[in-house]
Amino acid sequence: MLYFDYGAGMPVDEQVFEAMKPFFTTHFGNPSSLHEYGDAVREAVEAARAQVVSFVGAGEGDKVVFTSGATESNNLALKGVARRARRRGTHIVTTNIEHWAVHTPLKALEKEGFEVTRVPVEPNGIVDADAVADAMTEETVLVSVMFANNEIGTVQPIKEIAERAHERNIPVHTDATAAVGRILVDANDCGADLITLSSNDIYGPKGMGALYIRRGVRIEPVMHGGGQEWGIRSGTENVAGIVGMGAAAELAQRRLTRDIAHLSHLQTKLIDGAFEAIPDTHLNGDRQQRVPNNVNFLFDYIEGEAMLLSLSNYGIAASTGSACSSKTLSASHVLSAIGQSNEEAHGSVQFNMGRLTTDDDIDFLLEKLPPVVDRLRRMSPLTPKGFFDR
Ligand code: PMP
Repeated sequence: MLYFDYGAGMPVDEQVFEAMKPFFTTHFGNPSSLHEYGDAVREAVEAARAQVVSFVGAGEGDKVVFTSGATESNNLALKGVARRARRRGTHIVTTNIEHWAVHTPLKALEKEGFEVTRVPVEPNGIVDADAVADAMTEETVLVSVMFANNEIGTVQPIKEIAERAHERNIPVHTDATAAVGRILVDANDCGADLITLSSNDIYGPKGMGALYIRRGVRIEPVMHGGGQEWGIRSGTENVAGIVGMGAAAELAQRRLTRDIAHLSHLQTKLIDGAFEAIPDTHLNGDRQQRVPNNVNFLFDYIEGEAMLLSLSNYGIAASTGSACSSKTLSASHVLSAIGQSNEEAHGSVQFNMGRLTTDDDIDFLLEKLPPVVDRLRRMSPLTPKGFFDR
């Protein structure tokens, strides 16, 4: 199987898995217990927190809160900050390309009386920082813009947005799920006040994440209970998951330069190779301002799902749109946001690469793609007459 769906799921790194193992059996204590069983796991949880603190560049007084994943981190950031600030204002600014895990909690906040402005991105899939700033009002209590888009890979101008928001004392949240491990996500560098981090996106276990919270940001808990994680996220800690995420973060930080070089090389090879071999091919999203793991092509006249089926006959696993919405038939809201028609959006295919992707994998893909596209175009009613005589 040739796996090009790293955006949907990654294998847990062997070293990470090894680090986690004892916390299922030998070290089974509860970190809140005051005896030795508790001490050992409490220390492990704090060591893992230190690893994530270092990974995200958290400073003195900042917090890293462990959660059950990016979805929960986004819910905590959005609902937590908005509800706490309700008396000061009820307006939130975001974009029209956010993942459902931001879009849907914001919908829920709208039902609670908040007003949300969704700033449209430019045709290259990047939001203009000035447009985000223009959307801020006296009532704005939060700005949420994703670090990188999970479908078209575009990197958003978080630093500029944070600067503009901070001029008005508005905190900024960024969902960095599709950026971590692929580019530098550093709290000081980007200036965001809340950062959603995902464990599986750095070769850690699924169902595990964290939220970085800058010192001074006021947040109301979403999960109430025993008061763990400073009372911000109650519930007995997922110790093995936390240890895994810590180990994954340490590895990702250590390997970042190497991972970026590897992915960038593969990305260039795939984009250039496809452009050369297949006419009427377009790259969705910006070519430069994009995470190095992501390639999203629009092949004119054909259907993305048919492409996936044909590719899977060769053992190639890719995707259309977001893994989380692959069961719906509606066109991707991200591709609609960059101006694609329904037809075009349905013709797009995404290839997501990772640490284990090799040059040989790209060679194989580049060998199989042109004949697959050619065959589907010959069957497609959308292919213009005379296309094959050009
Ligand atoms: N945000 C983004 C940008 C994503 O791509 C995803 C899915 N990987 C999520 C949030 C949700 O992640 P999870 O399902 O792990 O909570």
